[in-house]
Amino acid sequence: MGWVTDVHPTQAELAACVQCGLCLPHCPTYRLTGLDTASPRGRLMAMSAVADGELEVDGSFRDIMTFCLECRACEAVCPSLVPFGRAMEGARAEVAAQAPGRGQRLRAFVLGRVLGSPTLMRLVTRGARLVRALRLERILPKALAGPLAGVRPLHGAHSSRGIVAGTGRLGTAALLAGCVMDPWFEGVQKAAIELLVRAGYRVVVPENQTCCGALAAHDGAAAEARRLAERNVDVFAGVDLVVATAAGCSAHLVEYGHWAQDGADLARRSRDVTMVVADLIERGELPRLESDLGPVAVQDPCHLRHAQRETRAPRTILAAAGYTPVDVDPTGMCCGAAGIYSLLHPETSRQLGENKAAEVATTGSTLVASANPGCEMQLRQHLDGWYRVAHPIEIYLEALAADSQ
Ligand code: SF4
Ligand code: SF4
Repeated sequence: MGWVTDVHPTQAELAACVQCGLCLPHCPTYRLTGLDTASPRGRLMAMSAVADGELEVDGSFRDIMTFCLECRACEAVCPSLVPFGRAMEGARAEVAAQAPGRGQRLRAFVLGRVLGSPTLMRLVTRGARLVRALRLERILPKALAGPLAGVRPLHGAHSSRGIVAGTGRLGTAALLAGCVMDPWFEGVQKAAIELLVRAGYRVVVPENQTCCGALAAHDGAAAEARRLAERNVDVFAGVDLVVATAAGCSAHLVEYGHWAQDGADLARRSRDVTMVVADLIERGELPRLESDLGPVAVQDPCHLRHAQRETRAPRTILAAAGYTPVDVDPTGMCCGAAGIYSLLHPETSRQLGENKAAEVATTGSTLVASANPGCEMQLRQHLDGWYRVAHPIEIYLEALAADSQ
């Protein structure tokens, strides 16, 4: 039948792959299985076979596509610049349209409607808090109980929405509240607002913004991803800068050109908070401390390292805080969190999470910096209780506060 959606992998995207295989050693699923169908090249070949009418979008095609972590490590090393992440989003949309797996429609509802609604996210947060308080994790399915164990303490229904602060000497920066960042990562949101205001931005957190849509796009819920992107394009019109505190969100915002009319303009104005804060430090708008606070293990989220090719920013921030950044994994393997991958492929996710935790242990630091909520939750789940995992900007703000006392 070929492709049926308007986001399918394009001929240009697929033809760019010359099947050289240079991406193979960088692909976590290929390294775990040794199977060509679990490699970037194999996945692109399967997409090409559908485009050429030689293969149906069926259950086998679905299995090949959904086993991918969408970590984009392959994309970062590809000499032919194959836009693998974009092609995979298209292939997942085809799977959702032609061969939906068990739970696909429910996931589209959750990823599009629940994550997009602050009211529903408040209810989810209260439910998760109750489960924890009553110690009901043991009756949850393992795939749910694991990620819940990695969530920070849930104090309540925090929201930064509606905040307007700062003078605006450097312009107006809008903060993406996100789906989980606001209710589950209050400290990161507060640190972003405080640092941006301190540097000279006027910070706004528009009320009616919504989830960026990355998780919906990655799971093939293309209509939901588009709806969320279009709302954000309207809401964030007119601000100088849109700042995302989760690497997965910033990586998606900079690709809004694919998801919304006029999305390219918002994409140009969007940045990850680590890049913004690192630039402010380098320009002297935020201070560098001279202290020697010891080592900090730096975990590079795939959507910062591979999707946005950014490894400098977190290290600049941590060094300015007075720490010595130590690489967790110079080869940049995915930690296995990968959005909702840990729910859909718990065993593969666990293996990759344990590998990453073992790499953290070799750094000798019990403080770990991670700029993405999913990675943070995955690390906390697989590390012993004496490790602390926090966002680089939280670590920096704490160091500034301690220094001023
Ligand atoms: S995706 Fe890129 S690196 Fe991998 S086989 Fe194709 S051309 Fe080579
Ligand atoms: S995105 Fe990651 S898991 Fe998927 S093919 Fe590329 S390297 Fe492999």
